Amino acid sequence: MEALGNYVGGEWTKARTGKLFNVLNPATGTIVAKAQMSGVQDVREAINLAAELRDKDEWGNDPRKRSFALLNLADAMEEVKERLSKQLTIENGKPLSLARAEIGSSIDHVRFYAGLSRAVYGRTMGVEPTSFSIIAREPMGVVGHIVPWNYPVLLMFRALAASLAAGNVCVVKPASYTPVTTALIMRLVDRINEFPKGVLNYVTGPGPVVGAEIARNPKVDMVTMTGDNKTGKEILRLASQGVKKVALELGGKSPNIVFPDADPKRAIEGALSGAFTVSGQVCFAGSRILVQRQVHDDFMRSFESAARSMKVGNGLDPATQLGPIISRTQMERIMEFIDIGREEAVLVTGGKQLTTARLAKGNFVEPTIFDEVPNDSKLAREEIFGPIASVMEFTDEDDAVAMANDSKFGLAAAVWTNDVKRALRVSRKIRAGTIWVNAYGKTYAETEYGGYKQSGIGRERGLDGLFEFTQSKHIYFDLT
Ligand code: NDP
Repeated sequence: MEALGNYVGGEWTKARTGKLFNVLNPATGTIVAKAQMSGVQDVREAINLAAELRDKDEWGNDPRKRSFALLNLADAMEEVKERLSKQLTIENGKPLSLARAEIGSSIDHVRFYAGLSRAVYGRTMGVEPTSFSIIAREPMGVVGHIVPWNYPVLLMFRALAASLAAGNVCVVKPASYTPVTTALIMRLVDRINEFPKGVLNYVTGPGPVVGAEIARNPKVDMVTMTGDNKTGKEILRLASQGVKKVALELGGKSPNIVFPDADPKRAIEGALSGAFTVSGQVCFAGSRILVQRQVHDDFMRSFESAARSMKVGNGLDPATQLGPIISRTQMERIMEFIDIGREEAVLVTGGKQLTTARLAKGNFVEPTIFDEVPNDSKLAREEIFGPIASVMEFTDEDDAVAMANDSKFGLAAAVWTNDVKRALRVSRKIRAGTIWVNAYGKTYAETEYGGYKQSGIGRERGLDGLFEFTQSKHIYFDLT
């Protein structure tokens, strides 16, 4: 099996360690690729080249070139989107329909930021009669992108497209579970003349080695990462040595709040997609479902029967609604949470690992619902990243808001109600970066996304997502 290379300075290279690691299909346990087990020296070489290119300023000073490069990349991805989608399902496990949606949305993010490359506007002003000031927006310089496995293409591009559009030189470290689709995309980049060699580098290898070096290396001007809360804190610690800018997206424990006047069918659909999309391995998963007491029993009947009928299987099977869990380790972690949940709450459905012949070699867990979950329990507090929904009752609007906000996270929330005033009142009171009203999981290239509290630092997507990858400079003219 041919090993994936690193892509550094426009060349495909091998790690100096001489070592490779296996990438597994989580549905079958088979090896799908081998990738470079890079060491510190490998990523340093990529960073050094990136810093040289930053200092030449060829890319940062040519917005049209950046725009054409990104547009060409979007077109190139469009041409092979089915291949990219299948590869994504094979390495990540998600149903093919969701992989197609991820690739489609990634292309859309690249196009959105391709346009914005040409609109990195600054400001001008006269502060005094004798002076004139320019506030220029400039690229950060070298940006390190540490990418997770759950949406390895979309979560890379929601930051990377903005970062490139703003004129930065980038070093990407994909998650070790999912480097393959990204490598295919780097092959497309390699064929696009508008990308100067070395503007986009890709280095695979262990997070605590390659990712940590990106976070601590003094030539990296900014680091952005999506993933676990603990990893985010470690990156902050490493980056603090160089006082470099850090942007983090660290997941949550998002409340999905159902009021009695909500459309019951749509609220159930929202609860299912919130809790079980990509088997719950989603940062904004609606894993805490808050239901007002008077509709709780009806809600539970429908929610339970809908969850029971969901089909778990290989993502390449068109009937599959829930694919596998990314790894054995992660599945074992989920099963531990289910054991904890049996002690803390009432198991309504699911709770088992699926091991029938067809699924035996993969990492499959049933969609699982717990009811009567105390808001101070582990089940309600920790980000599980698995197909587990925790349902809890509330008495009135104030109670719902208090329960929703009683969490260290603040990534997203949903409110289901037909009362527009209540929808707005509750949306304003919840401390989270995204609130959906009568919907779940809607994200777009043009709308900002990010966390309150421990869910993160900074914003991705939209205009703020572009400016995140810039720094402003005041140029002062004395006119006397
Ligand atoms: P991690 O946070 O460990 O991984 C995310 C990225 O960070 C990967 O590229 C990883 O590399 C890298 N990384 C890991 N350790 C370091 C480090 N010390 N310094 C720099 N970079 C590092 O998430 P996991 O994949 O281990 O998943 C664990 C949990 O994280 C999940 O159960 C879930 O709760 C949460 N998570 C949240 C996500 C979100 O979207 N908010 C996405 C993914 C995970 P490598 O892959 O090589 O380890």
